[in-house]
Amino acid sequence: MTKTDIAKYKQILEERQAELVGVLRNRDAITIEKSPDALDEVQNAAERELAIRNLDRESNLLRNVRAALRRIDDGSFGVCAHCEEEISSKRIAAVPWTPFCIDCQEQADRAQEEGNTETFDELLVNAA
Ligand SMILES: [Zn+2]
Repeated sequence: MTKTDIAKYKQILEERQAELVGVLRNRDAITIEKSPDALDEVQNAAERELAIRNLDRESNLLRNVRAALRRIDDGSFGVCAHCEEEISSKRIAAVPWTPFCIDCQEQADRAQEEGNTETFDELLVNAA
């Protein structure tokens, strides 16, 4: 990866970081609205749950974005945190904050489906 590429991704990641920080700062927007209507209650609960799930996803993404910015600083950006192979430029272009190459990402997804995330959780914590 060239210095120009890295500068470009750094900018993308920094913009993404600022955006996510802004979104997460609004987490107070999830307020519990009381409604006398039982149907509204169900609707509110569903909306709240969706909002919480989105926040979860966004805070995970923020963690990955921050870790990627740190990898830019320490010079390991673009290298898979699991197998240490170079991540393909196509994948980096699509998901610049990814810590894994496509093969390891598939392994991580599979491990997650099987509820066996220990190895990858550890890696992500180390990467973050
Ligand atoms: Zn890998």
